[in-house]
Amino acid sequence: MEITRRDFIRSSLLVGGSLLFSPTPLPAVQIKRNQWQPAYEKLEKQGKLAQRIEQAYSIFEHCQLCPRQCGVNRKKGEKGFCQAPVKPVIFSYHPHFGEEVPITGQNGSGTIFFSNCNLRCVFCQNWPISHEGRGDEIRDEDLAEMMLKLQKIGCHNINLVTPTHVMPNILSATRIALKKGLRLPIFYNTSGYERLEILKILDGIVDIYKPDMKYMDADMAEKYSGGASDYPEVAKKAILEMHRQVGVLKSDENGFALRGLMIRHLVMPNRVAGTEKFVQWVAKNLPKDTYVNIMAQYRVEYRAFEYPEIARGITVQEFLEAIDWAKKYGLINLDSKSVMICKIYERRQSG
Ligand code: SF4
Repeated sequence: MEITRRDFIRSSLLVGGSLLFSPTPLPAVQIKRNQWQPAYEKLEKQGKLAQRIEQAYSIFEHCQLCPRQCGVNRKKGEKGFCQAPVKPVIFSYHPHFGEEVPITGQNGSGTIFFSNCNLRCVFCQNWPISHEGRGDEIRDEDLAEMMLKLQKIGCHNINLVTPTHVMPNILSATRIALKKGLRLPIFYNTSGYERLEILKILDGIVDIYKPDMKYMDADMAEKYSGGASDYPEVAKKAILEMHRQVGVLKSDENGFALRGLMIRHLVMPNRVAGTEKFVQWVAKNLPKDTYVNIMAQYRVEYRAFEYPEIARGITVQEFLEAIDWAKKYGLINLDSKSVMICKIYERRQSG
């Protein structure tokens, strides 16, 4: 049976919805909710959180928050590659129902979209936010209030989208919110372009890390992500450090994630993302039950149409081969939506 791209996209959306509203088998309980406390609360009790915030804030004076290491003084209003001011710029904050099932849960992931970005990919799906910096500058106190509102409406975590260039503000807001009752896991939703020195400041604050692994090839990273040819090596080291800090993903009695590492990898047309090398690397360097989300939703966005190699969506075959590679190299904790999409198409092809 022939499968069109439209079928493929429709099925991806349907699977996302059906997993949210139908009972899916819950993973074994790894942490009891009533015995869990957020990492940042423990650090505060040890008297170390304020010190970390001070350390993070001092970096603004000669900004080295990410591997670009621009060295600009953001406290004096200078801007580096990311174009971010010293105050966080927020595009929106709300419950998000499109994340992975353990993150979305029943009530959604409490998502805060930060404007600007240190990677600036040519195919960015959030380009008005990440490239144009649309949004409003706010104070750390306002960011803390947003976190508390998301907790109040029942969200399962605080999902910080593109947090790298505003990390000091996030730490400060988290401490303010903690004092007013914040108890949700911090979900650090990053491109993976992170410095080890900066991640060490986050050790004991972040509960769930979600890095992307966008490419395995320096040339691809350079071409499509603002000249960041060091991305593959930097992101690999960052992921290993994140795993050292939080381990594999662990959930509570309801299957909601509380702590651990999840990696996202977007399959790109013409094997640009290096998917086989990616799954091979994970299998060799991390536990086989590392949570890996191999994603099918690549779209031609922003300036991607200027690059013939990535100026189309992915084919069904490109997605199926990605999942096959993950299984071949022994990964056993693939995102349930991706696996279900794959099964639907395998069935249709054999039928
Ligand atoms: S966060 Fe922005 S200003 Fe700071 S080093 Fe990275 S790109 Fe440069």
